[in-house]
Amino acid sequence: LAKQQGRNRFNFYAPYMQEASQLRIELCNELRNALKNKELRLLFQPIRTLASGKIEMAEALIRWEHPQRGLLKPAEFIGVAENTGVIESIGEWVFQEAASQAASFGEGFQVCVNKSAWQFRHEAVGVEHWLALLREQALPPRSIIIEVTESLLLEANRDVVERIQSLRDASMQISLDDFGHGYSSLNFLKRFRIDYLKLDTSFTENQALCEAIVAMAHKLGIKVIAEKIETEDQLTILTAAGCDFGQGFLFGEPISAQNLRRLLIT
Ligand code: C2E
Ligand code: MG
Ligand code: MG
Ligand code: MG
Repeated sequence: LAKQQGRNRFNFYAPYMQEASQLRIELCNELRNALKNKELRLLFQPIRTLASGKIEMAEALIRWEHPQRGLLKPAEFIGVAENTGVIESIGEWVFQEAASQAASFGEGFQVCVNKSAWQFRHEAVGVEHWLALLREQALPPRSIIIEVTESLLLEANRDVVERIQSLRDASMQISLDDFGHGYSSLNFLKRFRIDYLKLDTSFTENQALCEAIVAMAHKLGIKVIAEKIETEDQLTILTAAGCDFGQGFLFGEPISAQNLRRLLIT
């Protein structure tokens, strides 16, 4: 009977599963060619220094200009890229593109690059590789800020943590993305050496909490980038709380490198 039920259940779910995995297989094959066919784009979202209003940083955000499916966001393909290992060459491209564009944004400009837990876990190359890419562009290591997520630190995998810290030892900077989504965040801030934390605007609902997080970060020598700022009210609260930098639709959506260069000269 159990076998019978099992089979029925299988029959019931099979079409959906097949459809989903079919799409994954298709995307996976297409993704292999996306790099070669130059379908990947790197957009840059401006990050403002709140005290001066200046744009001195930007976050690099990947897009896939799919010939049939249109412009795809990372949520639609990064998972597939990781499952197939294609993420490794995508990560290489992202870093290279970010570095070459960073050089064109002017001296001292910093570009934030996202790197997933998968990438840190499976990476075959070491810090020397990334430093060499920066040297090719004559960029100082601090031009690139690597954004890591809390979940990565939560794993407490020593190799991964050492890999992150070795980037920092080489003077690249580390930013903790999506701060506050997980647990033990405060503990991690003390244990790991990071330069920035990215604070979600969900915290603006509680001004006191915002202020406390920023004050604590500053005490630990960490600067705060508020992300996803959409309204003036949020900006007011975040500025009052002492946030150092701000990013979000209020200031501007992710744009092409060319458009960012235009924005920087006006
Ligand atoms: P993230 O690093 O937290 O990036 C912020 C996301 O919020 C971006 O979504 C951005 O477009 C969006 N955003 C910016 N301003 C606002 C705002 O005011 N309101 C709202 N609601 N959203 C805003 P996006 O570009 O779809 O990227 C999603 C995630 O994909 C990123 O989250 C990051 O974790 C990942 N990702 C992006 N690019 C890369 C990449 O090159 N490599 C890897 N491994 N992951 C990437
Ligand atoms: Mg990010
Ligand atoms: Mg984020
Ligand atoms: Mg995120």
